[in-house]
Amino acid sequence: MRGIMKALIIKNNKLEYTDVPTPSIGSNEVLVKVSACGISDKDIDNIRAAGNDGVIAGSEFVGTVVKSGNPKYEDMIGRRVAVISYNTCKGCEYCRNNHVNLCENIKQIGSRTGWGKREFYPGAMAQFCQVWADHCYPLSDKLSDEEAALMEPMALGLAAVRKAASITAEDTLVIGAGTVGLSIAQHLKLQGARRVFVIDITGKCKDAIKQLGGLIAIDASQSNAAEIIRNNIGESGCRSVFDTIGTCETQNWAHNALAIKGEMITTVTNTDTLPYKLMYFSGERSVTNIITPQYKDMYDTLRLLEAGKIMAKPLIEAVYPMEDYKEAFQHKLQMAAGNDAKIVIKI
Ligand SMILES: [Zn+2]
Repeated sequence: MRGIMKALIIKNNKLEYTDVPTPSIGSNEVLVKVSACGISDKDIDNIRAAGNDGVIAGSEFVGTVVKSGNPKYEDMIGRRVAVISYNTCKGCEYCRNNHVNLCENIKQIGSRTGWGKREFYPGAMAQFCQVWADHCYPLSDKLSDEEAALMEPMALGLAAVRKAASITAEDTLVIGAGTVGLSIAQHLKLQGARRVFVIDITGKCKDAIKQLGGLIAIDASQSNAAEIIRNNIGESGCRSVFDTIGTCETQNWAHNALAIKGEMITTVTNTDTLPYKLMYFSGERSVTNIITPQYKDMYDTLRLLEAGKIMAKPLIEAVYPMEDYKEAFQHKLQMAAGNDAKIVIKI
């Protein structure tokens, strides 16, 4: 007989803290006892969107393997692991061509995507979550559960930086000082950028920027923000500009800061209509987008975190126990865009 566990489940566009069956596992899966899970923008979107009843929230998580669906994975039992929350079909054109992050038939933990019709959809804001065994990365004691739970959003930062053609000795700009923005900034510094400017949209991220060190903060909470940005960066502009916010205003800042051979890399998508002029792309300026990191980005992020080359702690805003989920989600919603430091749920 299957047991019962506590979980945060979406019902009628709200979260419910309730009992659900403990998940069963397949032969390529392990059961993870979840210890920490970050709140992501995807969780907020899923709660707001129609038709997500039965989805257990949460995809950015860490836990301990307690059961294996296959003798092959039994040595993982007892290991603390960070988890890659999506899996791919391994058959589509992108999977076959080493672009698994673009898979057309993705399965995503913490959402309905790829699971067909079910009563409950796998998610990590729960005591247990079933996970593909080869998507669990063992952790060393150097990282706390809360820090390691930031692997996925921080890996997006690394993936974005890897999109840039040239970093070493170049001037760079990051718009937004949230989890992804400050991950990008750390990777830019690590890869030898000449200067790393970080636009703090709300003017409230000073402490985090200071703790990371070596970054040049631009406070954009003032009315003449565009002028302040231009004066800081100078006329020649930045070789790489990263927009982690994606509004008309931030896109304009990005274009204005872009060097003649610069590339703009965005880490968000939305349905906003942006007022582009073709001259924004004059010279050899370009724009590209990335929202899902590759497996290697995740692995490398974890190794860099363990080595202390990048830091997760300054990006964590608060930690709440699962039963205080209402306060945790309220806290997340109160943070203005651009100050979306991580809220972590402890389980
Ligand atoms: Zn695929």
